[in-house]
Amino acid sequence: MSQHASLKISALSDWLPDASLPLLIAGPCGAESEKQVLETAIALKKNTNTRIFRAGIWKPRTRPNSFEGAGSIGLQWLKKVKAETGFLTAVEVANAQHVREAINEGVDILWIGARTSVNPFSVQEIADALIGINIPVMIKNPVNPDIQLWIGALERINQAGITKLIAIHRGFSSFKKTKYRNDPQWQIPIELKILFPDLPIICDPSHICGKKNLLASIAQKALDMDMSGWMIESHIHPEKALSDSEQQITPLELSALVNSLIVKKPNSHNKEFKNRLEQLRILIDEIDDELFQSLAKRMEIAEEIGAYKRDNNVTVLQIKRWENILTRQLKMAESLGLSEDFIKEILEAIHKESIQKQIQIVNKISITDLS
Ligand code: PEP
Ligand code: MN
Repeated sequence: MSQHASLKISALSDWLPDASLPLLIAGPCGAESEKQVLETAIALKKNTNTRIFRAGIWKPRTRPNSFEGAGSIGLQWLKKVKAETGFLTAVEVANAQHVREAINEGVDILWIGARTSVNPFSVQEIADALIGINIPVMIKNPVNPDIQLWIGALERINQAGITKLIAIHRGFSSFKKTKYRNDPQWQIPIELKILFPDLPIICDPSHICGKKNLLASIAQKALDMDMSGWMIESHIHPEKALSDSEQQITPLELSALVNSLIVKKPNSHNKEFKNRLEQLRILIDEIDDELFQSLAKRMEIAEEIGAYKRDNNVTVLQIKRWENILTRQLKMAESLGLSEDFIKEILEAIHKESIQKQIQIVNKISITDLS
């Protein structure tokens, strides 16, 4: 059994009063004033099916002297939100003091931000403060694309006895220039879902996109990836927001966004659909078989080349040849409509394995040495 199989997770329906999916968590990036928080919450109640109201009380900011949140006073505003709208409330906690204050003031759900989930010391401090407390905790992915850190944070909180867990996908810092504020790197939440099928994962399009116009496509993609919902920042006057102004939308805009999305079912019982899907899957399986047979054949030839190079005292790695392969295949990929990044990744993996096979051969005694 893998070490990861040990997460004990409660189903959303065990603890959320209305657990119908997709789950919408919305609210401002930061709680700025009682008026802003209440007006936003009331408009969200009126126009959207938000079920959890989020607001940052203590804001982690990249640079000092930026708005760092209203602090503890904001917890009183959230109490009013709860009383007026019935929303469950959620705040970000980054240390034990935040946990204690939030719980004492009746916050329903805590979340650990990306700048905290990256740090095992902080996560452990939060976990220790949570022992014996039965509160749901949402854990954002760490800023850097490291699934083990994300899993580690989930494990630490889980080991403190918290089973009401949600993972939030908010994208990753990247050197790669992309149109997103944080590169989505979908393969990471997908891998998390494969490792922990019972763990609810929701998407935070706001922090992935960094701007409004990309939100809908990311929110839709999250649905297509079978995620359980979204956390989306909404502010009554986004243009006046003291943090993350460019990515926040009004409650009315949020309503339009959610209504524009197509909710997909994980499956269909329609007979025709099932038959067609089955046929297509048979085709895919056949192609996969062919791909693997070709790869095996390629590796056999690589071994033969390895033996030949060894017997002729030629180095395994031949950069010029590798460059030629890349150029040739990338041209071919382009003409076939395959993406450059995808083909590069595959070729690199194949080349790495080929080199390894050749090195194994080189390390074996050569036939000529034996004669
Ligand atoms: C936030 O939710 O406002 C926030 C600070 O997000 P993240 O931790 O994803 O940067
Ligand atoms: Mn924010």
